[in-house]
Amino acid sequence: MIGEQYLLLPGPTPIPDRVVRAMSKPMVNHRGPEFKKIITRVTEEIKQIYHTNQYVLIYTASGSGALEAAVVNFISPGDKVLAVSIGVFGDRFAKIAETFGAQVEKMQFPMGQPADPDAVIARVKEDINGEIKAILITHNETSTGVFNDIKKIRSGIKDHPALFMVDAVSSLAALDLRMDEWGLDVVVSGSQKAFMIPPGLSFLAFSEKAWQVHQKVSNPNFYWDVSNGLKYLEKGQTPFTPAVSLFQGLDEALQMMQEEGLENILLRHKNYRNMVRSTVKAMGLQLLAEDEHASTAVTSVVSPDGIEADIIRKFMLEKFNIVLAGGQQSLANVIFRIGHLGYVRQLDLLAVLAALEITLSKLGYPVKKGTGLIYAQDYITDRL
Ligand SMILES: *Cc1c(COP(=O)(O)O)cnc(C)c1O
Repeated sequence: MIGEQYLLLPGPTPIPDRVVRAMSKPMVNHRGPEFKKIITRVTEEIKQIYHTNQYVLIYTASGSGALEAAVVNFISPGDKVLAVSIGVFGDRFAKIAETFGAQVEKMQFPMGQPADPDAVIARVKEDINGEIKAILITHNETSTGVFNDIKKIRSGIKDHPALFMVDAVSSLAALDLRMDEWGLDVVVSGSQKAFMIPPGLSFLAFSEKAWQVHQKVSNPNFYWDVSNGLKYLEKGQTPFTPAVSLFQGLDEALQMMQEEGLENILLRHKNYRNMVRSTVKAMGLQLLAEDEHASTAVTSVVSPDGIEADIIRKFMLEKFNIVLAGGQQSLANVIFRIGHLGYVRQLDLLAVLAALEITLSKLGYPVKKGTGLIYAQDYITDRL
């Protein structure tokens, strides 16, 4: 018997039974009192996760939808934009800005490395006339498993007037982020990563400063219009029919998150990262990211010489029903990625790491079984 699937992707992530049951509740009127209660409650709770007292809107869309919302609401055609990219999602944010007519200057860092904060700060400091209107940056680059030190970068650029816009789709609730304290203007997140619900909702948080910029923005805008969104939110509604069932699931997931506590959730993700990394290292495998910049959401493992990453993934799927992510672009078939965010238990990771060790030895990689696993066991033991 092969049993249920271990879904260890960096999104979509496993869904708790409680959330599944909440999503199968009867449909409600999206312009009625039940929905009003839900949207009011979840919006307030999401603000706590962002650490913001400013604006949050929830869209029925995948994460990229809210990235597009960030661009069309706060950037005008012709605006100069500095896009910092360390991988696939940094490229995507830049591409969306370009699509809507921004003059994008890209700062590209090699895949597997974070952005150099000093280089970004120096570039922004050169802009003494304030020509750069927005800085786009990824918090956690899911394609490589590297996170950017956005706090340091933001504090280094001080009072430069550009809006600081962050893709936090895979980091919010997995990695510390404090929107107001750090001075972030626009922060995008999504449902299918650390929020433990299916794909289909995304979140757009924005500052008072961004709201002021929005008043003068000239990009055409319909579905994403934040003015309209805020107007409806006051009535406890969305401008268009929302994914009601996903809101019901979100309500339950946020309840679970409150029960666990945000600090505990962040610590759990940090522990998962450290456990996976120490185990994989002990197996003799190479990790793509250095310890200092390693994501708490996903770990990229470099496939050993002579064994294709996709062969490892295929074996894990066929023999153990374990789903791991592959590499993207230049990292395709070079790395595999173990997602460890959202509703994942340490015993799930223990099982997956044990299966990885078996897989590697079956594929001819010289690892003595138990060599890595003992690190995972010790890691858990030390924290009991
Ligand atoms: C998942 C993800 C997105 C959004 O992707 P969608 O497929 O549109 O939900 C954006 N940025 C990052 C960093 C992500 O991990």
